[in-house]
Amino acid sequence: MSVDVSKVDVIIFDYGNTLIELGGDQIVMLNNELLALLTSMFGECNSDTFSTIRKRQILAPYDTDEFIENDRVGICNELIEELYDVIPSSSQIEQVLNLKHKIFVDIVDVPDFVMPLLNRLQEKYRLAFISNYPCSASIADSLAKNKLTDFFESIVVSGDIGRVKPHPEIFEKSLNELNLRAEQSLYVGDNWLADIQGAKRMGMQAVHTTQYVSYEQFEPYDGDYSPDAVINHLSELETILLYRKR
Ligand SMILES: [Mg+2]
Repeated sequence: MSVDVSKVDVIIFDYGNTLIELGGDQIVMLNNELLALLTSMFGECNSDTFSTIRKRQILAPYDTDEFIENDRVGICNELIEELYDVIPSSSQIEQVLNLKHKIFVDIVDVPDFVMPLLNRLQEKYRLAFISNYPCSASIADSLAKNKLTDFFESIVVSGDIGRVKPHPEIFEKSLNELNLRAEQSLYVGDNWLADIQGAKRMGMQAVHTTQYVSYEQFEPYDGDYSPDAVINHLSELETILLYRKR
């Protein structure tokens, strides 16, 4: 298990629990705000049922090998229908989606060490970004708020593709935008299935970061690829990728 930096031209980053923390605490915050809004709009509901539906929806894209991303309007409709047995109007859906967007942008903050790290990596590598998230506008606004947008030559979000990692389509979109072969790239992510298996199946090198506790946990299966390196903190990329590079 070791990274061959001589082949790497581009480093492609995951977002949640890789560049930023998006773990249980953040999901609880997002869910609490969403629940408060729904309660104000439709009345009290069973919060356990709410949490169960939300968890099922977050994990749904990984249920089949098609890896279909959630339709953000569809899951919002489904949530309200299941909780309240009413069909929400389009303006009610819009209100809920606007709140989800706002909360996501508000709660996601990039740690101080990330920007200097990306600056140093950018001196020797091209940088790119692939995220699984149903709303690409939320990712775009979050990257802008955190002043990360300009680091990345290519930004690909599952909500625009209709598939989530580990489906090859989302990686292919990124490689096409970068005009690059998979072997020339190294992927950094926290999710065993989406990031590590997804990238390795494409022929990329992959670094598994375990700095944060991910909300979606996927256990390794027999025959899974191993990552080329495991790091406990993102700053360890410096040791792996900078000190050894030509
Ligand atoms: Mg992640």
